[in-house]
Amino acid sequence: MKKSAAVKKAAPAKKTAAVKKTAAVKKSAAVKKSAAVKKATVAPKKAAAAVEGVPAAKTVAKPPKGESQTALVRRARRINRELAEVYPYAHPELDFENPFQLVVATVLSAQTTDLRVNQTTPALFAKYPTPEDLAAANPEEVEEILRPTGFFRAKTKSVIGLSKALVEQFGGEVPGRLEDLVKLPGVGRKTAFVVLGNAFGRPGITVDTHFQRLVKRWQWTDQTDPDKIEAAVGALFPRSDWTDLSHHVIWHGRRICHARKPACGVCPIAPLCPAYGEGETDPEKAKKLLKYEKGGFPGQRLKPPQAYLDAGGKAAPPLGAG
Ligand code: SF4
Repeated sequence: MKKSAAVKKAAPAKKTAAVKKTAAVKKSAAVKKSAAVKKATVAPKKAAAAVEGVPAAKTVAKPPKGESQTALVRRARRINRELAEVYPYAHPELDFENPFQLVVATVLSAQTTDLRVNQTTPALFAKYPTPEDLAAANPEEVEEILRPTGFFRAKTKSVIGLSKALVEQFGGEVPGRLEDLVKLPGVGRKTAFVVLGNAFGRPGITVDTHFQRLVKRWQWTDQTDPDKIEAAVGALFPRSDWTDLSHHVIWHGRRICHARKPACGVCPIAPLCPAYGEGETDPEKAKKLLKYEKGGFPGQRLKPPQAYLDAGGKAAPPLGAG
């Protein structure tokens, strides 16, 4: 199976150096911080090697107790940089061609996978291509189309209500402002930021379940409320990084740092992660936990960006095809 370009790019083994640097962390608590900084420069190579069957680091840098805000900012940005190398093709995993399709797809993605939404929306948008069409739709017909996404009656109500609001209040256009978006039925801050970041190029942090879990594991914040997490993490990064940061974190949560069994043994940011060891540390076993392109499987989009395909990613199959 093809490995991604990122993996290929990082593959040249500088394993020895990586392991040496990692081992250095063990030596003393006093040097932990600087060791972590050094190790970070080799993390992607190590991770890529791990994906190809080479053991990953066995030790990690715990963040120092009472880590200063400056040190936290440095560590958080380093993690984001490492993830950008691991997922250079990261993108929203919902298929969409315009802001209307994105806002509808995001509403439909509640309680289901992006894959299932992507397999469902082609039929929906073929029949109802505009907000006007969907606003005037027969709910029972929409329910039939949306059935595979679960909660299809509530979702039908949301997307028809949303379309009506777009037609009545915004001239049939999706508004590009947070304060307008969150007034639409079924659209909260999370959905609004997905739309702003990916359809309007306005920076936003998407605090979904993966984002919440990972930033907790990385000790970026103690907050548990999504709005407070958004504010705390936003303060660690320049605004221009917010959208890509969201993709990197969510992609890592979906592929490697899973909720129940994170694949720590092949994780490229293990040296920077205070939660290393929460999941499977045996590289061979951890490798089997990898998902999507990292495990050699199709992704979630039926029409992924070219960069994903160029990196060895595969398109998802249509509904019923597998
Ligand atoms: S918990 Fe494990 S898989 Fe998740 S980021 Fe940390 S080392 Fe990686």
